[in-house]
Amino acid sequence: NGISTLGNLLAESAGCKIHRETLVTGINRGPGGRWQIDPDSRDGVGEEFDDVVLALPAPQAAELLPAEPPELAGLKAALSATRFQSQWSFMIGYGRADDVWSDEERYALVNPDREHPIAWLSHENAKPDRISSEFTVVMAQMQPDWTLKNYDVPADELIEKVNCEVMQLLDKSATPIWHDAQRWRFSLPTGILDANAARTAESTGIHIAGDSTTGKGRVSLALQSGLDLAGRLIDA
Ligand SMILES: Cc1cc2nc3c(=O)[nH]c(=O)nc-3n(C[C@H](O)[C@H](O)[C@H](O)COP(=O)(O)OP(=O)(O)OC[C@H]3O[C@@H](n4cnc5c(N)ncnc54)[C@H](O)[C@@H]3O)c2cc1C
Repeated sequence: NGISTLGNLLAESAGCKIHRETLVTGINRGPGGRWQIDPDSRDGVGEEFDDVVLALPAPQAAELLPAEPPELAGLKAALSATRFQSQWSFMIGYGRADDVWSDEERYALVNPDREHPIAWLSHENAKPDRISSEFTVVMAQMQPDWTLKNYDVPADELIEKVNCEVMQLLDKSATPIWHDAQRWRFSLPTGILDANAARTAESTGIHIAGDSTTGKGRVSLALQSGLDLAGRLIDA
């Protein structure tokens, strides 16, 4: 049912207070030494915490951390140094009659040698109850190198190029009826956060979870890192 299902189920089972649609703009120590989160709205202002877990791409986490106390300096530097690759994603809708995905046995094509501009191409109709029968929908995840070259080009200007690559791969010829695109600046980690820097900072109450700590962009690994950290915090 889509990637948001896991988050919704976790939120439901945790039974805790969640501030949705709230951008954190900074994390600071209050006068009593506890942590305060600065949100972009009044919602949640004034609450203080002994521990804060940051589970977002490492370079973005680095920007939220204050310069003090000094035990955070190593973590801030290590987070900034943890590299991520970027990725353009295109969802493209074709008319059903164009029959762009005729191989019903395959739901996706993956590019293991990284030689092709498309890293992953999937047939969204293969997912139950997802796509209206009017359309054939494919999802094209573009290679990091291709993404970098085209990072600042508007999606509407890229769609023709992307469609050409898709058609060549599928050996078809069709024009998209519609498309949607998302540019992920920090899509998948290519490095791993220095675990020593993270451990040193834990004495301040600042903790890191998520795929920055696993070095691999996998939902299961990110989730496990959060569960492991939660276990350590509960036991402490
Ligand atoms: C295009 C794409 C395809 C992928 N495909 C797969 C796949 O098929 N299988 C797989 O296992 N993994 C896949 N991944 C990788 C997977 O999505 C990540 O590894 C995983 O989501 C990492 O989880 P996380 O909790 O560490 O961080 P994220 O999922 O990145 O969550 C971080 C959250 O923090 C929020 N956030 C960031 N900054 C702030 C702020 N200042 N204030 C408030 N909130 C903030 C973000 O909005 C986001 O919700 C894919 C990733 C991408 C981009």
